[in-house]
Amino acid sequence: ALGHWKHGGIVGVFGYGGGIVGRYSDLPKRFPGVEHFHTLRVAQPSGMYYTTKNLRDLMDLWAKYGSGITNFHGSTGDLIFIGTSTENLEPLFWDLTHDLKQDLGGSGSNLRTPSCCLGESRCEWSCFDTQHICYALTMHYQDEIHRPAFPYKFKFKFSGCPNDCVAAIGRSDFAVIGTWKDDIQIDQAAVKEYVAGNDRYPSNGGAHKDGDWGPFDLQKEVIDICPTECMWMEGGELKIDNSECNRCMHCINVMP
Ligand code: SF4
Ligand code: SF4
Repeated sequence: ALGHWKHGGIVGVFGYGGGIVGRYSDLPKRFPGVEHFHTLRVAQPSGMYYTTKNLRDLMDLWAKYGSGITNFHGSTGDLIFIGTSTENLEPLFWDLTHDLKQDLGGSGSNLRTPSCCLGESRCEWSCFDTQHICYALTMHYQDEIHRPAFPYKFKFKFSGCPNDCVAAIGRSDFAVIGTWKDDIQIDQAAVKEYVAGNDRYPSNGGAHKDGDWGPFDLQKEVIDICPTECMWMEGGELKIDNSECNRCMHCINVMP
């Protein structure tokens, strides 16, 4: 019985329409402690970079006003606080925005949960500054994020390359995925070393190196797996017909 919640209901904070999902127990008399168990969505930092201090402050805030149960992060991208009562919402919102300088995320039929991969800050494959665009659009669309005005939710997400680490294509309505304008650049000298099994160029960049995978086989592990079959070896050099490449990232992921 505890596990069943009436979904939705009108609950929120002053000036906002989104960010809080109302939850009420079906059995409030039997379980008065969880009569309300509202969920809060909190906007996460771009690329999910938290400082330890920020995390501690968030946890202190949530211990003060809520159940302490969290979800880092919800499938939609926001940081989720699970379980608080209606009377705690306004003071929590005040402290969150004034002391922590953080904002509620989105819920309902609004512009929701902009999120991005960590992009250029740590990943050599990023083709654009994902954090910058995510932050800029979040600030630009504040009104649409906090006041639901659409017939249905609308999400945008940013991945720096087609590996699509934030699953923008599956989880958003407006997916921005970085790709490259020119041809794939091949370091033929490095390819030769790679094929020869030189330790300076471990397969998969050294990932999973503890396993016994046998000698690296360029034909089997790269060329034969290219989905458009646009790669081949010729005169000891790796060739790519770039007009046929669909930018799946496979060769880039596994080559040195
Ligand atoms: S989506 Fe691409 S650029 Fe972004 S973190 Fe993943 S691999 Fe790197
Ligand atoms: S990115 Fe994918 S499609 Fe393009 S050459 Fe590499 S493996 Fe082939």
